Amino acid sequence: MLLVLDVLRSDGPSSQAALARRTGLAPATVNNIIQALRAEGIADVQWINGREALVELVSKQGAIVSISVGPDSVHGSVFNFAKGVRSNGVRELKKEDRPGADPTAAVELIQSLAQRAGVAVTDLAGVSIAIQAPIDRQTGAVAPWAANRMPLWRSVSIAEAIKAEIDVPVVVDNDANLAALAEWTWGTGRGSDCFLYVSCSVGIGGGLIIDGKIHHGGNGMALEIGHIVVEQTGPVCFCGSRGCLSTLASERSILAALQGSESSKDSLAEVIGSAKEGDPACQRVLYEAGRNLGRALANMSKILAPSIVAVGGVLSDAGSLVFDSLHASIEENNVPAFCPSIKFKQALISDATLLGGVAAVMSELGQGVSELPAWMGQSVNR
Ligand SMILES: [Zn+2]
Repeated sequence: MLLVLDVLRSDGPSSQAALARRTGLAPATVNNIIQALRAEGIADVQWINGREALVELVSKQGAIVSISVGPDSVHGSVFNFAKGVRSNGVRELKKEDRPGADPTAAVELIQSLAQRAGVAVTDLAGVSIAIQAPIDRQTGAVAPWAANRMPLWRSVSIAEAIKAEIDVPVVVDNDANLAALAEWTWGTGRGSDCFLYVSCSVGIGGGLIIDGKIHHGGNGMALEIGHIVVEQTGPVCFCGSRGCLSTLASERSILAALQGSESSKDSLAEVIGSAKEGDPACQRVLYEAGRNLGRALANMSKILAPSIVAVGGVLSDAGSLVFDSLHASIEENNVPAFCPSIKFKQALISDATLLGGVAAVMSELGQGVSELPAWMGQSVNR
């Protein structure tokens, strides 16, 4: 039965004939599985034009809380599948009061979101915790080299700390890994057996989805794309290297490049806005960010040979102002010779981290949602 679920999760709505082809199962067996999934309320059948019936995964019961934990705040949403309602919540933690978000703040936000949905915490189907830092899979804690960003989580085994307070299924992962899962499930990565995702906003993170699963590597540090060295003599990075992609294409680095110039800005969104209005300095820094991102992705592509590479985050909103130089880097590094069919695309799903958390919990529960319903708050870039 897992095979049919896997195909539905990967390919989206599919006909029974397509499911039989993809799984190698007899049509009668596929039909029996679909009937069982329908009886459990996990799958549904939709008729298209009264001729073709497509099977899709649905979820019509339970509630899932998905939160994202950063250095200064925790934000998240509760997705109430029984009612088809999403509610958002946030806890800003001022630095004067305390040094940042801690496990207690995360637990309190989960509790308040459950309350808002009218669901007892113990009745939640599951909880996803996205951490805006790399997670060591052996200790379950934030990697020591990045712990200065989130000091109150230092050495905290995150899943254990949350489960000690809230005893429901808990998924903990890096925020970019979860965003990659959302983009693979509902966005431009759908159906890809090897999907590479990079998000460029305040920081740079990446995720790799192989055969529908997040690739974590031996210790969870896989896909730390932000720390690929692009310029050996570039600026020092907090990770201890020089010239990491994070020092060349993140919001902070782009703003720093403009600092002191007449085009100095306070946010990456402002830089993109001015560049689109013709500011040549803003166009220049975005061009360079795209070129450096392209170099990193060219190296990644030669190692991983993904079928699709998606770029998300605020930087991707720059469109051709970033993608032209990114593509030029890809060509310059002769990636097409190694991977002729590789495609570099703008990510489709914004708010991908929280939605990826829902996808991860559903995967744990053996469920899924083939098409993102409007109430789940999908916003599409284009
Ligand atoms: Zn670094």
